[in-house]
Amino acid sequence: MSRDTQMTEQALLDGKLLYEYKTMSAMVQIYCKAHHHAACVEQCEDCQAFLEYAHTRLDRCPYGQDKPTCNKCPVHCYKPHMKAKAREIMIFAGPRMLLPHPIMAIRHLLAERKAAPAKPPVHASNRHLRKAK
Ligand SMILES: [Zn+2]
Repeated sequence: MSRDTQMTEQALLDGKLLYEYKTMSAMVQIYCKAHHHAACVEQCEDCQAFLEYAHTRLDRCPYGQDKPTCNKCPVHCYKPHMKAKAREIMIFAGPRMLLPHPIMAIRHLLAERKAAPAKPPVHASNRHLRKAK
């Protein structure tokens, strides 16, 4: 995916969802660089595909802007192999985020402490709100 498509993709999200996407791409970059030896700015195709998938999930998350961290979420919207990859990335990159991205790392840790609401609200997903505009 080119840099331009990536910008348009990001533009679909805002607020907390966009922030979470940015945190995720920072983690994917750390993970990919260490495991797949990709160049500093771009990820390998596999990790890029993962990010695109994560982006779609964020866009469609039924909690919308109230999204809990995926760890705490009762919905489990990821396909099993994507979920496994997400776990692997988090476990590897999570502790390595503190130095390059301290604010992102701390915000994520704080979010992890918040319990998820039992049921997602109705029509709160970013995608729904986007289409309703
Ligand atoms: Zn990679």
